[in-house]
Amino acid sequence: MTDFLHFIDGDFTAGTSGKRFEKRRPHDGSLVGHVVEGGAAEIDTAVQAARAAMRGPWARLSVDDRADLMRAIADGITRRFNDFVEAEMADTGQPRGTMEHAFIPRGAANFKAFADIIKNVSTESFEMQTPDGKGALNYAIRRPKGVIGVICPWNAPLLLMTWKVAPALACGNAVIVKPSEETPGTATLLGEVMNEVGVPKGVYNVVHGFGPDSAGAFLTEHPGVDAITFTGETRTGTAIMQSAAKGLRDVSFELGGKNSAIVFADADMDVTMEAIGRSAFLNCGQVCLGTERILVERPLFERFVAALKAKAEALKPGAPNDKASTFGPLISQEHRQKVLSYYTKAVEQGATVVTGGGIPDMPEDLAGGSWIQPTIWTGLADDAAAVTEEIFGPCCHVRPFDSEEEAIGIANDTEYGLSASIFTTNLARAHRVAAQVDVGITWVNSWFLRDLRTPFGGSKQSGIGREGGVHSLEFYTELRNICVKL
Ligand code: NAD
Repeated sequence: MTDFLHFIDGDFTAGTSGKRFEKRRPHDGSLVGHVVEGGAAEIDTAVQAARAAMRGPWARLSVDDRADLMRAIADGITRRFNDFVEAEMADTGQPRGTMEHAFIPRGAANFKAFADIIKNVSTESFEMQTPDGKGALNYAIRRPKGVIGVICPWNAPLLLMTWKVAPALACGNAVIVKPSEETPGTATLLGEVMNEVGVPKGVYNVVHGFGPDSAGAFLTEHPGVDAITFTGETRTGTAIMQSAAKGLRDVSFELGGKNSAIVFADADMDVTMEAIGRSAFLNCGQVCLGTERILVERPLFERFVAALKAKAEALKPGAPNDKASTFGPLISQEHRQKVLSYYTKAVEQGATVVTGGGIPDMPEDLAGGSWIQPTIWTGLADDAAAVTEEIFGPCCHVRPFDSEEEAIGIANDTEYGLSASIFTTNLARAHRVAAQVDVGITWVNSWFLRDLRTPFGGSKQSGIGREGGVHSLEFYTELRNICVKL
């Protein structure tokens, strides 16, 4: 049994709230342990520790030294690779292979990437003329923003947390992380690594708890927090933005999506099916970039639906440690209720269920898990709930289209704008369509291919701002201009 403590000022602590809650494994419902719940007092202690760290040796580290520490953190994660894999499997129930090949190494890679970026991104300078003919020189420098509140979701806990913590620390800030209540494991474990590699006390803090009236809300309301970076639901982002308005704190939001794939009849079927098989079902469909709306040019429609059905039916649900398992459970029973409500609604609204639609039969030892069938629908109207609302489950609606213009119109007919993928062998069409889809990230003939130097974020209700490469530096630093009269 593991107990999950806060990590504040370099120490693990239960805090003073006296409250704690259970963490259960999604794949069988068994108890992992208890998580302490932080309130206003724990957040305040963490904020004070972070502010003190910003006045201490951390503030005087050179960029080179900080970059070396970032690499040491990455190596520290790699050294304890199996601990991170085990912690993430206990938290999310996803197959070991997904953790080992994607989510944990990518978590470590975030620190290495930002160690390079912080050393290699320059600032601007301008020479200007002045009436006395002597001129002036303007140049910009970057300084850390201060204490950053980092609020994380549960779907890829280490990856999404380090995507924020790595640039924040590389830029010289201190952070207070509020992991999702569903996934306390790897954020806590990262505290041990921070101590092992010598990150100064108070630079990385973790306070556990929930959102409203708990650690999440207290963190975003605390006046000692200079900026807030959040990944999660659009509705939660709205609440956080209201808190951030007090004191005019900066926000960076990565929010929900209702992403489309557009498949043209000339697409390479192998490439397309590999990418869409992942984008619809990876992580049991709990990926913000996942595809829930698939638009297929009519001549290919029947063949595509049959191929995707075969992909879905080939998935093998099983325990994370079972080598044969390629498909994990949803994060919780509560989330399963939400996803199942869409399965019911889709049928009520006239869907043809191509495959899935319910709960799979699982062996007795896994029956307590939040399992669900991968599901494909056809035949829904464009305004059906399953076609317009983010479900965040392993399900998608496939719809035929007849022209490029129609496909673009349907893809853009949503309040979200996170990502899209386009499948075609016609290069000119790929560029033309990509430029017209209103999203932050578009893939052509692929999905979830990420270069960490590129901008990442959503348009419309899918986010505010961009992170990645220089864009992360824009958020995690203040850019100051210095004008020198010569
Ligand atoms: P969520 O919004 O329910 O919770 C996210 C975090 O916010 C949790 O830590 C939660 O405790 C906290 N929180 C909730 N209410 C709060 C409040 N009032 N004040 C402060 N904190 C609060 O999201 P989730 O269910 O954990 O994650 C799934 C959602 O995240 C989906 O909508 C998905 O699309 C989105 N997501 C987006 C991206 C992206 O990059 N755009 C990536 C992953 C997930």
